[in-house]
Amino acid sequence: MSDCCSVNANTEAAPAVMACPVNGARSKQVDILTVKSLVRKLPMGMPDTQYYFCDTSDCEVVYFALDAEAPRFRREDLMVRVGAKETADPIPVCYCFGFTRKDIENEIAETGRSTIADRISAEVKTGNCACEVKNPSGKCCLGDVTRTAKDRLGQKGESKL
Ligand SMILES: [Zn+2]
Repeated sequence: MSDCCSVNANTEAAPAVMACPVNGARSKQVDILTVKSLVRKLPMGMPDTQYYFCDTSDCEVVYFALDAEAPRFRREDLMVRVGAKETADPIPVCYCFGFTRKDIENEIAETGRSTIADRISAEVKTGNCACEVKNPSGKCCLGDVTRTAKDRLGQKGESKL
């Protein structure tokens, strides 16, 4: 069998975390499938290299590569708003089922609790999510949803004092 089938041959040795070349933020690996799925228009001749996801709000770069010559992708290059980089609504949190930060906040304001993470979790269990090709991080959104709800519930609790 030839080497042509081992797609990830060049990325095996890539570090798990790289500093963003623009703002120096620690950025985790992202699968090339995620990059290809979310970048509006891929340049021809993309090198086979490991990509990283910069998730800080003060940086325009979303994806950069281990190979410094490889193209970088900025916010406007993506088909979706990158929740981690947005400060104005709508701020997407769950990309598969379309929940925004506002949806989470509204539910808490109306009912005093948050059920969105549980609802997403049930969908994930039945295999109805596609985080790999929908979420810019390529990861499941549940952690972000839970964190957003916790922050909001925490704020609400404090305001009662
Ligand atoms: Zn950055």
